[in-house]
Amino acid sequence: MHRPARLVLASNNPGKLRELSALLAPLGIEVLAQSALGIGEAEEPHLTFIENALAKARHASSRSGLPALADDSGLCVDALGGAPGIRSARLAGGDASDADNNRRLLELLVHCADRRAHYYCVLVLVRGPDDPQPLIAEGEWAGEILREPRGAGGFGYDPLFWLPESGCTSAELPAARKNELSHRAIAVSALVRRLRGIG
Ligand code: IMP
Repeated sequence: MHRPARLVLASNNPGKLRELSALLAPLGIEVLAQSALGIGEAEEPHLTFIENALAKARHASSRSGLPALADDSGLCVDALGGAPGIRSARLAGGDASDADNNRRLLELLVHCADRRAHYYCVLVLVRGPDDPQPLIAEGEWAGEILREPRGAGGFGYDPLFWLPESGCTSAELPAARKNELSHRAIAVSALVRRLRGIG
């Protein structure tokens, strides 16, 4: 894909803006926050991560007239057929806290021996709202769901997300290490490779 000089990030999360700006600056790409352009959040009505990310990217691109980048991510549990998936932030209800969602996940899996799960992240870059060939980059991070929380770092389901190879949960990993290993890190590095023309 032709590398844009500027793009809008379809997210209001300041952490994501900081991280993506730093990673894309060496490629000569300036990242603007959609909120700085007066663009509100898009609806996310779809059943898949990719559809929701595309909807967010298109929304930001059509409102700004610029290329736009969006992400969507969540936890997929094998024994739950991939749930909570796109409902990860709302597993225990609309206003659920991370602790509520973790408790609900443990309830759903209480009788379940198969604890396999993965985090998934997709990034979508559109050159315009009608782009027929968006750039899509994905990342997956495999783990297992513990029976009780461990660790205080990270966010979301991290205290339950056991990493057999690291011997700890993703909430026990140093933040810098999580940023090297995570589904988001894998997706961002795939995006950067594609933009450099080497992926
Ligand atoms: P978002 O795509 O960043 O809005 O994340 C959606 C939801 O997926 C979050 O609210 C969390 O419940 C879950 N999630 C995504 N990434 C992570 C992670 O790295 N750790 C823990 N939970 C995550």
